[in-house]
Amino acid sequence: MEAGGVLRRYPKELLCGEYHANAKMIELSLRVRNAPLVMRNVLGIFIEKGIKPLSGFITQIEENLFQIGFFLDISNLKGEVDDLMKEIKSNEDVIDIIVSQETFNGIIIDTLHFPLTAFDEKSFTFRVETFGGILKRLYDKFGTGAAVILYEMGLTAGESKVKSIIKKHRMDKLKILKLIMAERIAKGWCIPEIVDFSSKGAVIVCHELFECLHFKDKQDKSISQFFRGYLAGIFRQLFNKEVSVTEVECIAKGDPACKYVIEVKS
Ligand SMILES: [Zn+2]
Repeated sequence: MEAGGVLRRYPKELLCGEYHANAKMIELSLRVRNAPLVMRNVLGIFIEKGIKPLSGFITQIEENLFQIGFFLDISNLKGEVDDLMKEIKSNEDVIDIIVSQETFNGIIIDTLHFPLTAFDEKSFTFRVETFGGILKRLYDKFGTGAAVILYEMGLTAGESKVKSIIKKHRMDKLKILKLIMAERIAKGWCIPEIVDFSSKGAVIVCHELFECLHFKDKQDKSISQFFRGYLAGIFRQLFNKEVSVTEVECIAKGDPACKYVIEVKS
């Protein structure tokens, strides 16, 4: 069974922007109490006015305080956006409402929310393609030097990940590893599968790893350095021992997934 013990998974779109060539779009951000009630009322207004939600999010900020964001297609809205805002604001549980109406030839971008956080931690995103391009450039320019740098970057990231979990939670080693691997799915890194785990090491298979996707079927050897270092950092921190990580299979050389063998040195 795959990581997380789920049988199916669907793509997740981060609230970033929408492109609809012929639609009239706005973005709304609401700060509310009693979120279920407000949601029902606000969605009721949308239904009444023919407003189509395109994407959005809801998140609890503190006890009974929620942030809600929406991209809306208001092509069928009769009347002014200001009136729509007033109607939503008249709900006593709506504390604040802000709107963005700036579009760029059918594109609207989320400019109402910052910073971006993932699991309450400040984050930023990279396109997989951009990162792949960066890696390719680094390898072209610096060859094995790039490999060392990327491995070291991964190592630091892996170590700091374990440290931050240990600081907040009490868990055994396997639980920590499982948590970190599950989070890789949430953050779009890959779909990892822990095939084997013991005090001597582990075998981890990663599907669709962001680091190797750009090189899929283009190399004659394994390409991953950052994620290989990341795993090394995790295991080094978990076991407090030196480790070696080998990527024995890689999508870059035509394998179906990237497979890592981790050895904890005694
Ligand atoms: Zn790989």
